[in-house]
Amino acid sequence: MSVMPAVFFGHGNPMNALEKNRYTQAWRAFGQAVPRPRAILVISAHWYVHATAVTAMPRPRTIHDFFGFPRELFDVDYAAPGLPGLYDEVADIVHPTWVGADLDSWGIDHGAWSVLMHAFPDADIPVVQLSINALKSVDYHLQLGAALAPLRADGVLVVGSGNVVHNLGGVSRALPDAGFDWAQRFDEEAKELMLTNPTEVGRMDAHRDYDLAVPTPDHFLPLLYVAGVAGATSTRAEVLVDGYAYGSLSMTSYTVGMTTPPAPDGVGFAAPLPEGPPADGANI
Ligand code: ZN
Repeated sequence: MSVMPAVFFGHGNPMNALEKNRYTQAWRAFGQAVPRPRAILVISAHWYVHATAVTAMPRPRTIHDFFGFPRELFDVDYAAPGLPGLYDEVADIVHPTWVGADLDSWGIDHGAWSVLMHAFPDADIPVVQLSINALKSVDYHLQLGAALAPLRADGVLVVGSGNVVHNLGGVSRALPDAGFDWAQRFDEEAKELMLTNPTEVGRMDAHRDYDLAVPTPDHFLPLLYVAGVAGATSTRAEVLVDGYAYGSLSMTSYTVGMTTPPAPDGVGFAAPLPEGPPADGANI
């Protein structure tokens, strides 16, 4: 069985699920380049709870956990199977950290399916999610990511899905394809660290722009899992695709342990936000 890479996807607005742009083309190119995984283990910004848990149901439901988007986005069904046995593998490998089995509360949220629809459009590879425990420290998340690294050799693709810079209150509809100065400074520093010494991204809470770039930690923390995998195997990350949306979102994605697929020739902004209520009420 091939050793799997790991990947962090900057997922942005869930409308990317239905669109084709240079980000979604990069996600697709990744999916086509990677050896076929036995399972995909997703750490999504959108499962941010007061527990460390792994989904363990055979048929995870597709969760539409956002507001103010068109009907067609609520109609998406990413019907990938689960893999209940992966819970035991994860629980063993991260011991003595305790991990609960979730049989019925979660499923596949939009942080997962909005990117997997492009990377693995056939939805025929089992998808399991690992929650982000909101009560834990930066080092806990880095170490848990590092503990997951051996799963790569067992055919498990570890996926972090969030955004390095994610400030919905700061969204500017006048800047669909650009980042504010502070967003660029933070994203560039994260990039410098991911490409040289990935676990140092855990120290970015001291960065001058942290409070603007990471007003809540949910979208940043998935990066720490992928940085943890990279650190555990002394592997640097590579940029899969980068860019900005609406001033206050970074769309940067990273791979670990694989040569980044050729840059897609597509151009184009990240998916536009729908008209209507402010983005910070959308849970995206
Ligand atoms: Zn999100």
